[in-house]
Amino acid sequence: MDISDADVDTLARSVRGVVLARGASDYPGEVAGYNSAGTYSPDLVVGATCEDDVRAAVRFAAERDLPVVVQATGHGNYAPVRDGLLITTHRMQDITLDADARTVTVGAGVQWHAIQPHLEPHGLAAVSGSSPSVGAVGLALGGGLGPLSRTLGCTVDHVEAFRVVDGTGAVRIVDADHEPDLFWALRGGKVGLGIVTEMRLRLVHLPLLHGGSLYWDGQHIETVYRTWVDWTATLPDSVNSSVNIIRFPDVDGPPPQLRGRTVIHLRYAFVDTDGTPESIQADGEAHLAPFRALPEPLLDTIGPLPATQTATIHSDPPGQLDVWENGTFLDAIDQDYVTALLDIVGNDKDAPFIAVETRHFGGAVARPATDSAMGGRDAAYSLFLIGAPVPELFDTVLPTIAGRVLDAVEGYRHHLTNYHWAGHPTGEDFTRLWTAEQHERLRAVRASVDPAGLFAFGQVAPGESTTEVPA
Ligand SMILES: Cc1cc2nc3c(=O)[nH]c(=O)nc-3n(C[C@H](O)[C@H](O)[C@H](O)COP(=O)(O)OP(=O)(O)OC[C@H]3O[C@@H](n4cnc5c(N)ncnc54)[C@H](O)[C@@H]3O)c2cc1C
Repeated sequence: MDISDADVDTLARSVRGVVLARGASDYPGEVAGYNSAGTYSPDLVVGATCEDDVRAAVRFAAERDLPVVVQATGHGNYAPVRDGLLITTHRMQDITLDADARTVTVGAGVQWHAIQPHLEPHGLAAVSGSSPSVGAVGLALGGGLGPLSRTLGCTVDHVEAFRVVDGTGAVRIVDADHEPDLFWALRGGKVGLGIVTEMRLRLVHLPLLHGGSLYWDGQHIETVYRTWVDWTATLPDSVNSSVNIIRFPDVDGPPPQLRGRTVIHLRYAFVDTDGTPESIQADGEAHLAPFRALPEPLLDTIGPLPATQTATIHSDPPGQLDVWENGTFLDAIDQDYVTALLDIVGNDKDAPFIAVETRHFGGAVARPATDSAMGGRDAAYSLFLIGAPVPELFDTVLPTIAGRVLDAVEGYRHHLTNYHWAGHPTGEDFTRLWTAEQHERLRAVRASVDPAGLFAFGQVAPGESTTEVPA
């Protein structure tokens, strides 16, 4: 795309942050993100420090018809972005806690781990996803399913307001009373809805839960999986769990007991907002009884856990990683699901995945307090595959074997899948993310927020239109 040096200077004079064209020495650091296999290479990157910077960048792009993508952390940068303008938000780190009102307002670049220390002294918790390094805004826009969601719902259920820069560079203040359609859309509609500069979240009073991890050696994968599937059919909404088959590399980093092994990881959280520390521990342990009867785990971290340390339950890998992932939401599963899955990814199989995760939903996930654009909330479970971090496998080997897994569980697939479980959605994939009705309403909201189609979805294949989704 043809952007002159004079254009770059003009933009640089109108923002407080940095403006870097491809080739500038600081450009690689500015575009880098969590997923090193998906690093963007736009014509221009604006490192925004504030809402005015975002507005200036959007107006600049609108005048020149440049597609715009946004990146906070790069946890969701799966698709090749090779042109246009990238706005990075990692400098927008404001966090304002109102402990009396039980709300926290965060800037666009804030990651979950930065919020938690503000909350802990007040016994408050934010309903987040599994990973502390994911961006709060990015997670919320997709819905936000996390380790406590069966009890507390999704992140979108706790969003009170957004500030958004639209496709004309104007600021929209969005909540249930102002711009209700856009408020609905931003909670799950994910893409093409402007650039969020600030978000206000309602907090939960939850000083303590009972939870953590149990890891068993690979020889016990089948026993644990089968126990888990039967167990999840019996649980109250206070019990949150998932299982993950992990193939740990033989490198420093993971706990020594797990290094170089294939294991099954049970993630567990018992949440009772009215309980005492004693009752939470007793009830939390009681629910775990079927697993306490199994062979000794390699590692057991389960115990009383401050809710602000929920991220330790999944222990998602920190730092940069070459990421390939895909998944699906599921209806009810049974022992045949376990057989189908383990036939391809079991302990004795040479499966090219570092993680094969099944999460249990239902409870508050299926009973949203308010209507939002988040699709698939009535799914009962999810399946998620993370490939070995070897980019040579990303084009054919991983899609082929993941396709085999998805075919094997086809009979269990829910008709919708959340955006954050869809890997790198393109074309027809978008029709599985929302119902036809949600899709139509989102299309109308996107057209009103961004009439010129400036906001590229950032999740498109080369040569594909950056803003079109199929009807
Ligand atoms: C290790 C790991 C664990 C995860 N765990 C969970 C989980 O438990 N639950 C879950 O639901 N998801 C989970 N995810 C998915 C994650 O929530 C999404 O990838 C999310 O998009 C990441 O947001 P980000 O801002 O950190 O990433 P980025 O790559 O910076 O952003 C991804 C996308 O979010 C949107 N976005 C970000 N900031 C803005 C903004 N200010 N305005 C408008 N759009 C914006 C854009 O579409 C952007 O392309 C996980 C991902 C990883 C890598």
